[in-house]
Parts: sequence; structure tokens; C-alpha cells
Amino acid sequence: MIIAANFKTNHTRASTKAYMQTLGAFVENEGISDDILVFPPATALEHIITDDNIRMGIQNAYPVEKGSFTGEVGLEQIAEFGIKTILIGHSERRHILGESQEEIAKKFAYFSEAGFEIVYCVGEPKEVREEGIEAVMQYNLAQFEGIDIHYDKLIVAYEPVWAIGTGLSASNEQIEETLSKLQEYVSAPLLYGGSVKVANTKEILAIKHCEGILVGTASWDVNSFCEMAAIAKQLS
Ligand code: PEP
Repeated sequence: MIIAANFKTNHTRASTKAYMQTLGAFVENEGISDDILVFPPATALEHIITDDNIRMGIQNAYPVEKGSFTGEVGLEQIAEFGIKTILIGHSERRHILGESQEEIAKKFAYFSEAGFEIVYCVGEPKEVREEGIEAVMQYNLAQFEGIDIHYDKLIVAYEPVWAIGTGLSASNEQIEETLSKLQEYVSAPLLYGGSVKVANTKEILAIKHCEGILVGTASWDVNSFCEMAAIAKQLS
């Protein structure tokens, strides 16, 4: 299974270091062999990975090696930290930062060409969910436009926008139905994200076609995230 933590704009360099040390020790002591991905803010990327199955990724980057793109980081800066995992298409980048599908597809093409493991996020807003599963699938599949769905280092995260950071997770039935339809289209591992917490981790990880979770808010506390990793181990 894949258990991923998205810090968003939380944690400092110092707190990320402490987090990674606690997480690394936990994973080692518990003998957890599931894949653990951590996406800290770009200021906290460091060579502090303590275990082979723990990988640190970047939440966003600009699809260039280097250049004049004020405020962005490119491949040269990421490479310095040995980072080979990236999150692309997160709903906060699509809806708050205004990234278009075209920009997202360019980013995907660039970082896949560079051999990155890519956690690619798709998910519908509330008004689309209310229209039913056909509308949901139409919306989600449109978010694959320009994306090489056969890329071998692709992981897809289904993250309904209305469930992210709201405390309101999608129901198990909604997750199962959507993942089941997604797996007809893409053969990459499928994660669910959207208000996953320790209390619902077990039931979500048990859903058919669900191969892991992408966790925002509940991952910021290292003990909660460790508990989620332990639950994944029990189910693996
Ligand atoms: C996310 O940011 O990817 C996410 C799923 O957030 P949260 O767990 O807070 O809903």
C-alpha cells in the first residue's frame, strides 16, 4: 500500500526534520514495508530519509531545469535534494492557484520525461458530485487530458474537492464506485484522499481498488500518520 502525507503550507524545516526522524524510527521498529511518501513544503526538503520505503516528494515545481520564473523551483533545485517524486494536479493548485489542464499536462510531461514518480490528483467539485456518477466520471476523466496514463511511475489519487480539508470524507460506496470506474481507464495504483483520518483509515484502505491514501490535515501530526501506516501494515 501507499500512505502519503501532504503537508501543504505547514511545518518548518526543523519540524519536518523531527517528523521524519520519528516516522523513520516508527517504520523501522514496526517493520512497515508499505510505501510511505511525504510531501513537505519546498523549504524543508532535505536528505533526511531514514528508510528505503520512505520517500520525500515535492508538492509542486515548474517544468524547467532552471530559468527566469520568479518564485518557482525547477529540476536543478530539486535534484540537489535527491527528490524523484512529485505531486501534480492537486485540487488546491487547480482551483486556488488557477493551474489549467494544459499547464498540468506540461508539468506531467516534463517530470515524467525526467523519470519522476508522479502522484497525479483528480477529483470533482460538490456540484458535479450532486449530478451523479456519470457527471463525476466525465469530470474526472477530463482531468487526464494530455496525461500519459501508461507512464510506469504513475500513481493516481482520487480526491473529491468537496472532501479535501472539510472533515467530510466521501462515503465508502462513493469511493468504491469511483475507483472501480477509474481502474477501467487507468491501470496505475489508485489512492483515495479527502478527510482521511486515523478513525476511517482502516475502512478506506479495505475498499476494493484502493491501494493507499493521500492525507493532508491528519498527516501533519506525526503520531496520527504513524498510526495510519501501522493500519496499512495490518491490511497488507
Ligand atoms: C490533500 O490535501 O491531499 C488532502 C486530502 O487533504 P485532507 O486530508 O486535509 O482532506
